[in-house]
Amino acid sequence: MRVLLWISILTIALFANTSKETISLQLSWLHQFQFAGFYVAKEKGFYEEANLDVTLKEYASNIHPTQEVLEGRSTYGVVNGSSLLLDRNAQKPVVALMALFQSDPSVLVSTNPAIKSPKDLKYKYLLMSDEDFRSVGILAMFLSHGIKREELFLKNHSLNLETLINQQVDAMACYISNEPFILKEKNISYTVLSPRDHGFNFYGDVLFTSEKELLLHPKRAKAFYDATKKGWEWAFEHIDETAQLIYENYNTQKKSLEALTYEGKTLKELAFDEEGLFGTLKPSKFEEIGNIYRVGGIMKNGLSLKGFIDPLFFAKTEVRIGVLNSRDESNSLSKSWDENAQYLSSLFPLHHFVVIPLDFKTLEERVKNHTIEFVITNPLQGLQLEHRYGLGRIATLSSPYKGNYYSELGTVIFTRADAKQIQSYEDARSKKIGAVSEHSFGGYLLGIKELGIASNKNITFFQTHFNVIKAVLNGSVDVGIVRTDIIEQMVHEGFIKQSDLKVLGAKTHPNFPFISSTDLYPGWMLAKMPNTPETLSNELLSTLLKPPSASSSSKPLYRVNTTLDYSKIHHILKEFHLFPYEQEAITFEDVYAKYKFLLLGLGIAFILSLLFSLYIQLLNRKLQHYSHEVQRFNETLEQEVNERTHELSLLNAKLKDLANIDELTKIANRRYFFLLATQYFHAAKRNNTPLHILSIDIDWLKKVNDTYGHAMGDEVLKAFCKHVQSSLRQSDLFGRIGGEEFCVCIQNTPLQGAKILAEKIRHKVEASRESINNQALPAITVSIGLSSLHPEDEEIFDTLKRSDEALYKAKHHGRNQVQIV
Ligand code: GH3
Ligand code: MG
Ligand code: MG
Repeated sequence: MRVLLWISILTIALFANTSKETISLQLSWLHQFQFAGFYVAKEKGFYEEANLDVTLKEYASNIHPTQEVLEGRSTYGVVNGSSLLLDRNAQKPVVALMALFQSDPSVLVSTNPAIKSPKDLKYKYLLMSDEDFRSVGILAMFLSHGIKREELFLKNHSLNLETLINQQVDAMACYISNEPFILKEKNISYTVLSPRDHGFNFYGDVLFTSEKELLLHPKRAKAFYDATKKGWEWAFEHIDETAQLIYENYNTQKKSLEALTYEGKTLKELAFDEEGLFGTLKPSKFEEIGNIYRVGGIMKNGLSLKGFIDPLFFAKTEVRIGVLNSRDESNSLSKSWDENAQYLSSLFPLHHFVVIPLDFKTLEERVKNHTIEFVITNPLQGLQLEHRYGLGRIATLSSPYKGNYYSELGTVIFTRADAKQIQSYEDARSKKIGAVSEHSFGGYLLGIKELGIASNKNITFFQTHFNVIKAVLNGSVDVGIVRTDIIEQMVHEGFIKQSDLKVLGAKTHPNFPFISSTDLYPGWMLAKMPNTPETLSNELLSTLLKPPSASSSSKPLYRVNTTLDYSKIHHILKEFHLFPYEQEAITFEDVYAKYKFLLLGLGIAFILSLLFSLYIQLLNRKLQHYSHEVQRFNETLEQEVNERTHELSLLNAKLKDLANIDELTKIANRRYFFLLATQYFHAAKRNNTPLHILSIDIDWLKKVNDTYGHAMGDEVLKAFCKHVQSSLRQSDLFGRIGGEEFCVCIQNTPLQGAKILAEKIRHKVEASRESINNQALPAITVSIGLSSLHPEDEEIFDTLKRSDEALYKAKHHGRNQVQIV
C-alpha cells in the first residue's frame, strides 16, 4: 500500500516537472523562410528547453492572425507591423513583442521597361489588393510621388505571376524575397520599386500576442520570446542549414531549395536594425507609420502607443537605480525618479530603468550585494559608500524649482514665528530640537554643526521633513532642522504659510532661491556600482546632462550636473568622526604614558642617525650641486624639444587636413579623391571586382548664384554634399573635383547597385527642401554620368573619361537624369 502511495507521489512529481506549456502561433502566410526562426526554435529544441510545446499554424484563407489570437484560437501570431498598429489603434488589445523584419519585404515589381518610378504607374493596372495599397511602405511611396488611390487601377490580387510576365498588368505587389527569384530564373528582366529605395523603411512581420496572455502568463511569454529570438538569430547565421530544414519538414509550397536559400539571404538584409540587433521595436518608428497613415487619411484619431510595444520589456535588460528614501515621505524623490526612469527607458533601446526606494540600511545592503546598478543618495552616505564599496560618483543631482534646477543644499534652522524667546543659536541650543534622522545630512548633521552642538545631544527624530515642520508648528519641539528648499516647496504647494515660521541665521546665496541658515554644500549624488559597465554609466550621464528634446513624449523631472566638489563633505565626516574618519582622536599624552621607554630609546637613536646623516649630507651637497646644474640644463633642453615636436605634429595634422579636405564642403578634395580612387582602381583590377565612377554636376548653379548671390550658391553646395554623403556607404569615396563638379567612386557593387545609388542621389537632391536661417534653399537638380571599370582601362582617368562623357550626355538630354556610358 505504502509503495503504491510512493509511486503515485513520484509520478505526480515527475509529471509536474515535465509537463510542458502548450501554446500556438498563427502565421500570416504559408510555410517558407519568412518564418524560419520559429521552425528553428522548434526543430533545434529551443522551445523544448524553455518547457514549451509550440504548434505552428500555417495560414489558410479567411484566417486573420490578430482575430485568431484575440478570440483565443492561438496564443501568439505574426502579422505585418503596420497592420498591427491599425488594429491597436482600433482599440484591439494586441501587443507587439518583436520585429521579425526591420524593413518590410513588400515591393512592387514591373516587367514593363517604361516603368521606372512610382509616378509612371499613374492610371496603370496593378495586381494588388486594397490591403496591399494600405501597406504603409507602398502607401508612402505613392503619396510621396503625389499619386492617390483613385489614380491607380487595382486588379484583384491573385498570385498569378503570368499576368505580370505577359504585361497584362504594369506592376504587381509582392515580396522582394519571392517573385523576383522566379523572374530571374525565367530570365525575364524586371524593375523593383521598393519603399526602402525611396527612403521609407518600416517594419515587416511582427510577433505579437494579446494583453491577456502577458497578464496571465508573463513567464511563459518571456520564455517564448527568448527561445524565438534565439531561433531567428540561429536561422540567419545558418541560412543553408535552415533552408534545408524548411525544405525537408515544412515545404507545403513545394519551393526549390535554391528558392528557399535565396529567400533567406534576401530576408537577412531586412531583418536587423541599424545597430545590427534582431527584434528591436522603436516607438519613433511606429509614430512615423502613424504619421503616414494620417497623411493618407487611413488613421483619423490620434495615436497612443501606451502599453503597445513590448510592455514587459522582454527586449531590455533591467537597470536598477536604488534611491535613498526616508520613511513615509509621500512626496519623495523616488516617486519623482520613476518619471525619470520612464524617460530614460524611452531613450535606451536595450535598457529598462526601474527605481527602487530604499532606506539607509537596505540601500547599503543592496550596494554590498551588488543588486543594483546605480545609487542615488545624500552626499554623506554617498561618500561613505564610495569608501566602503568602491562606488563611483558620476553626477550631482539638480532638483527643479520654478523652472530652474539647483544642485546645492544647506540647512534651515527654524522656530515658530511667535517663539519670541528664541532669537539666536545661543537661545536655540538649550531648547527641544527636532530633526529628520541621524543619517540625514541637510535635515540633521549640517544643522547641529551650525548650532555648535554635539551629535549625542538629545534630539527627537521625526523621519521626514514634513513631520519636523509639523512638530515645530504644533509645539512638540521648539526648534526644527530641515534641508533647504523644503519650506519653499511646502509653501508653494500650500501646506504651510511662510509667515508661520521664523528662520534663524537666515542667509541668502547668489543664484540660490531658498533661505538657508548655513553655507551651501554639494547636493545628492548619482553613483555607479563598481561593476556597472562604464559605457552604460557614460550614456546615462550624457542623457541626463542633455536637456530633453522638445519632441520626446516623457520629460525627466530631475536633471544632473557633472559632479561637484565633495571635499566639504569630507570635512564634515571628519568633524563628526563618521566613517571613514570614525577613530577617536588619540592625544600625545595617551601615547607617551603607554610607550615612555620605547619612545626614549627611539628618540636617542633618531638623534644619532640625524647627526650621522647631517655629515653625509654635507658631503653630498657639493656633489648634488653639480649634478643639479647638469640636470636642469638637460630638462630645459628636453622641454624645448618636446614643445617643438608637439607644435610640429599639430602643424602637420592641420596641413594634412588642408591638403585633403575641401574647405567649403568638408569632403575629399580633388587631389585626395584621385589619390584614393587610384588605389581603389588598382585593387579592383587586381581582384577583378567591380568599380564605378559617378560624375555629378549640379544643374544651372550659375543661375542660382546670379539670382540669389554666391553665398546662397555655397549653401546649396554644402546641402548637396550632405545629401550625397547620407546616401553613401563607408566604402564609397566622394570628392569635389571642381567648382560644382563631384565624383563618387563605388567599389564592390554590381552595376545595378550603382545605378540605384545614382538614381537615389538624383532623387534625393530633387526632393530635398532644405532651409537655412528660415530661408528656403533654391531647389536644384543634378545630372549624373555613370561608367564602370573596363578591363582595358589602365588608369582611373580612363574610366572617368567615360563617366564625364555620360555626364555630358545627361546634360545634353535635358539634365536631371542619370546616363551610363
Ligand atoms: P550646367 O552645369 O547645367 O550646364 O549649368 P551651370 O550654370 O551649373 O554650369 P556652368 O559650368 O556654366 O557654371 C558653373 C557655375 O558654378 C559657375 C559658378 O558660378 C558656379 N560655382 C562654381 N564653384 C562655385 C562655388 O564654390 N560656389 C558657388 N556659389 N558657385 C560656384
Ligand atoms: Mg560645370
Ligand atoms: Mg553645373
